[in-house]
Amino acid sequence: MSTRYQTILLFGAPGAGKGTQGKILGQIPGFYHLSCGEVFRTLDINSKLGRVFQEYSSRGELVPDDVTIQMWSENMHARTVLSEYKPLVDLLVLDGIPRNVTQAKLLDKYIRVLEIVHLVCPDKEAMIQRLRRRALKENRVDDAKEEVIRRRWEVYEKETAPVLAFYDSKIVRTVNAMGSPASVLQHILEVVVPVQESHFRNPLGAVPV
Ligand code: ADP
Repeated sequence: MSTRYQTILLFGAPGAGKGTQGKILGQIPGFYHLSCGEVFRTLDINSKLGRVFQEYSSRGELVPDDVTIQMWSENMHARTVLSEYKPLVDLLVLDGIPRNVTQAKLLDKYIRVLEIVHLVCPDKEAMIQRLRRRALKENRVDDAKEEVIRRRWEVYEKETAPVLAFYDSKIVRTVNAMGSPASVLQHILEVVVPVQESHFRNPLGAVPV
């Protein structure tokens, strides 16, 4: 039996709605959502790691891979020890990680990727607009400046987009990110519910056929 975390990746450019959708999915029994960016943001900015995060994210750059994977794996482990995330019961929904091929390789020993939901938005400017709005609402330093948003996009196109080719194309599912949150959610559920049902027993649900 595999001891790796059974995982779905939410994939897509900055502003595609991974965080919004991940949060909703995480409310559903049998799904556990973790956003890498959010874990970084909860760090004390006076700690060493917090300062490293601040330094890179304020420029729209990725935090170095070794630091990221170590922080992520320790964080995940803590969540399992606390029984917040139960690997035998919950499908893990990751967003914001892996962000490049090196991270994908390093993560391989921890996660088994069952499916990748690729949120696609053909209108780049619409997504940039979303980031600007969010920055104002949430007081985010990284997206407050136009140049940082553009840099985040460049990093996505150059380093993150190639991650898709690292995985078997059969597990990559494209979902249009342009609709309302409810309609995007509906399409994501069409992809992830069968995966969740086929990999986990659902004690409260119908007996799988
Ligand atoms: P959100 O999706 O909530 O906007 P992000 O995932 O963009 O948050 O993360 C914000 C910042 O955190 C990134 O710009 C980057 O500096 C850092 N970060 C998040 N995830 C990673 C990762 N997997 N590898 C390296 N840096 C990361």
